[in-house]
Amino acid sequence: MTGEFFGADVIRNEITSHAKATSFLCPEADTIFEIGGQDAKYVSLQNGTVVDFTMNKVCAAGTGSFLEEQSEKLDISIKEEFGALGLSSKQPLDLGERCTVFMESQLNFCKQKGAAKEEMVAGLAYSVVKNYLTKVVEGRHIGDHILFQGGVAFNRAEKAAFESILGKKVQVPSHHDILGAIGVAMLAREEWETSDRPTRFQGFNLENRKCELSSFECQSCANLCEIHKVIFEEKKPLFYGARCDLWDNTEKKEQRQASRIPRLFEERCEALINAYPKESPDSPNGQTVGIPQALFFHELFPLWKAFFTELGFQVVVSDPTNRRIMRQGVENIVEEPCLPIKLAHGHVLNLLEKEPVFLFLPVQSTMEKLSDDFAQAWNCPLAQSLPYILLSSARIKEALNPPGGKKPKVLRPVIHADRGQPWLKRVLKRIAQDAGVTSTSLINQAIQAGFEALDAFNDWQQRRGQEVLNQLQPGRKAIVIIGRSYNTCDPEMTLNLSEKLRDLDMLAIPLDFLPLKSVAKEISAAHPNMYWKSGQKILGAARIIAQDPRLFGLYVTNFNCGPDSYLLKFFSEETEGKPFLTIEIDEHSADAGIITRCEAFIDTIWNASTRGTSQAIPLVSISSNHTNSRHIYLPYMIDHGYVLAAAMRHCGVDAEPLPPSDELTLGTGRKYTTGKECYPSIITTGDIVKKTLAPDFDAEHAAFFMPTASGPCRFGQYNKLHRLVLDKLGLQQVPMLVFDQTNGYHKDMTAL
Ligand code: SF4
Ligand code: SF4
Repeated sequence: MTGEFFGADVIRNEITSHAKATSFLCPEADTIFEIGGQDAKYVSLQNGTVVDFTMNKVCAAGTGSFLEEQSEKLDISIKEEFGALGLSSKQPLDLGERCTVFMESQLNFCKQKGAAKEEMVAGLAYSVVKNYLTKVVEGRHIGDHILFQGGVAFNRAEKAAFESILGKKVQVPSHHDILGAIGVAMLAREEWETSDRPTRFQGFNLENRKCELSSFECQSCANLCEIHKVIFEEKKPLFYGARCDLWDNTEKKEQRQASRIPRLFEERCEALINAYPKESPDSPNGQTVGIPQALFFHELFPLWKAFFTELGFQVVVSDPTNRRIMRQGVENIVEEPCLPIKLAHGHVLNLLEKEPVFLFLPVQSTMEKLSDDFAQAWNCPLAQSLPYILLSSARIKEALNPPGGKKPKVLRPVIHADRGQPWLKRVLKRIAQDAGVTSTSLINQAIQAGFEALDAFNDWQQRRGQEVLNQLQPGRKAIVIIGRSYNTCDPEMTLNLSEKLRDLDMLAIPLDFLPLKSVAKEISAAHPNMYWKSGQKILGAARIIAQDPRLFGLYVTNFNCGPDSYLLKFFSEETEGKPFLTIEIDEHSADAGIITRCEAFIDTIWNASTRGTSQAIPLVSISSNHTNSRHIYLPYMIDHGYVLAAAMRHCGVDAEPLPPSDELTLGTGRKYTTGKECYPSIITTGDIVKKTLAPDFDAEHAAFFMPTASGPCRFGQYNKLHRLVLDKLGLQQVPMLVFDQTNGYHKDMTAL
């Protein structure tokens, strides 16, 4: 809308604009730190072009508005006093770096204790910088020519804090607060100079330009979008705020129609529904089975649809995700889980309005393994326990027991798909019997139809994926959307991400279209304990992307996703050398933020390295080679560690428990993690790193001990994270000795 108002010739994102102005002002710049009032950005440059970037996700702790608020509370002027006060501090306070709430409460605590203003101000400056480095930069490459931009760069204390933490010179360029605007002006001039089109620029007397604004609610679907109508000087009205293309102008519609880029996500949705083509049973039994369009619906629906239809049931599904379903989900949760779990609540409520006789809510504990190279294929604990979570919602309980109405019967089988087809057949038989079907031949026929439909869907995905990859010319690029199908293949959930990329002339490929099985062996060798099915697929995709110069990854995750707090790091390691974009989606996500990131990412991938440098993350199993010659440190997790170390020493192993964690542990742990991992994982990381920095640490004769487990919770991934951190510290020679629960710890104990 702003572009229309000004008559923009070109509309570009903030990242590209900042990079443009920066490389003009300072051609040797290789890193941009930009902290503005509401957001923060990091950009990595090579020869003036963007090769990597990131923006802050949700937390405002590292931005100018937070500093301004805190300055007001300290009764100082952010403009006049903050910088000088901060620089005069002799002993800056440690206010942490986690989030606004935590920093603020620390600040209040220090204030009550009578801390000096300058120490608090300097503490704030450090906190903002630490927060920026750990939550925004997250371990990305920081070069030697750093330019600090945005309004916060006015603050000399912030610049000094960056220099002190990084030990590098940080330059604040002239016009640092408006460099984005300068950059976009330069891009507009380039466009104007190289294009035959006359400029659309409306001039500077915009205050005289007539503009009529109004809004209304679109009633064309359940999304009920609030549409803003804008009319500039009797021109055709423009509409904004729609979730679909209904209100797009003719030019945009024509542009979309003319695009030859296939809509692979739309094709996948159709294939999911039509893999089993019958809409009704041949011999109906008059009963309905309701299936919510949530979680594993997006992968397993062909199986369920064929199975129940062949049994004689009419399958009823909830409506495709819309804002009402989303709102109902968000409003009816008991705890604060990730968005897919919230959304499932909305789908179940929507489904119950259709009064199905049976409500199908399987406890989908595991999926089919990516290959037999993996021992398990768990879903995360939240996804597994979804039926129990749903049934604890008061609103769902109420809807399941309508006063005087029909009560649907809940079918809640526990499904371990990784135990193979014979096991699955037995469960399917029980489901059919629970639903009142007794004919063995009918049940067998339904099971067979279910398996065939699922195979047909999966085979189609592989065939279509192969076709797409074969047609992708060597010079072209495409983006693989990484994540779980319930995130990536539900268009409303991703705010129609694949269509946004298509509008930007970029092909989006569903993860399941990749030949993931072809790399399963490699992935299981590098991650033998990857017990999550989603992890097997995501890391498989990472390996394929790293090796294919045409492919880049866009990782869709959710706020509060447990497995992703580890998988994102492993994915990044697997694709190291190639940029990837992470989009974290929650119920507040907005179109504009996603478009900015996508535009900047597309600019980046045209400049970036086309091959990753992925390397397997080596793990070391227990063997007497290590235990005989190395001093083994046991990070403190519980007092039993002392007992274990004593037992080891009794057996002649040189073992030592590390002391209980302290503040330094936590601070160190946070530096090497994203802060989203489990707390014990962060503090054990801190203890390990702390030990490696101790003067008595001998890397050639030391090892760290960390037990592991085979899922589904995150504990089994701690050691992998520790390994990554040791490698980053250049301590590849220091083994992680890992006791594996799968063997009941006995095999490893014996090796000791
Ligand atoms: S999604 Fe499209 S049709 Fe539905 S309410 Fe929004 S603008 Fe109208
Ligand atoms: S894997 Fe992540 S997004 Fe999926 S249910 Fe579990 S926590 Fe939620």
